[in-house]
Amino acid sequence: MARSILITGASSGIGEALAVEFARRGYAVAVAARREDRLQALAERLSAAGAAAALPLVLDVTDFAAIDPALERAAREFGRLDVVVANAGVAYSLPVGRSRFEQVRRTIDTDLTAAIATIELALPRLRAQGGGQIVAITSVAASRGLPLMGPYSAAKAGLHRYLQALRAEVRHEGITVTELAPGYIDTELNRGMRSRPFVIPVERGAAIMAGLIERGAGHRYVPTWPWALIVPLLAIAPTRLVAPAPRKP
Ligand code: NDP
Repeated sequence: MARSILITGASSGIGEALAVEFARRGYAVAVAARREDRLQALAERLSAAGAAAALPLVLDVTDFAAIDPALERAAREFGRLDVVVANAGVAYSLPVGRSRFEQVRRTIDTDLTAAIATIELALPRLRAQGGGQIVAITSVAASRGLPLMGPYSAAKAGLHRYLQALRAEVRHEGITVTELAPGYIDTELNRGMRSRPFVIPVERGAAIMAGLIERGAGHRYVPTWPWALIVPLLAIAPTRLVAPAPRKP
């Protein structure tokens, strides 16, 4: 039986590129997101790229009650789910105390609560089938609160801590927990940003991530270099080095 993977947030960016990468590697691939037209077109590309099967799943991950039926559908179609990737995410520029709370809340709901919900609901399935792999996409922003990205940094840092606890808890259960923390990968999420240091093309990011997932990595930055060097320094840098210029009166 071909290996199988379900990826949330697969209608664009990293999720889409990861889906294509795993299709090339012969996996059965389920792609979940809200934009159905993009998922349908992607499913055709996945089949053409060599996927053992391709399943589009319309899913809003903040509709928590809809997550389990999506997992159930993929597990039924594929026979089992080897890998579940909690990738769906949003990122807005949100200056503290000057932003619409709706966007603050959507960031936490999507990037933290929905990612945890996806994992919590996937785990009983992985346990029942005797093992599997949980993958979650955090960020270098999990290690340092970045200006204008407070809610995003908080969500990713929260997810990072959850994954650490999870990895320790399932250590003896045949379940691998992989956290991938990208720096800047060229996607719709960050094209409006003024600065994207060391940005890499999304196909390259997906190829690196797929390799790390298949090797069962624990926690890795993507790409590893220069972020494995920069992030520990960023984490302890004085506030003045990361603070934006003062606002003009
Ligand atoms: P994109 O904006 O290209 O993709 C985000 C994906 O998430 C889309 O497919 C979108 O699909 C989906 N999504 C958003 N909200 C929901 C929702 N409520 N329910 C279901 N799907 C949802 O961004 P990226 O590919 O760059 O981001 C993917 C992940 O990588 C995110 O978690 C992001 O935080 C993380 N990341 C990205 C970095 C980068 O440099 N690109 C850096 C660090 C982390 P749809 O709108 O169709 O629902």
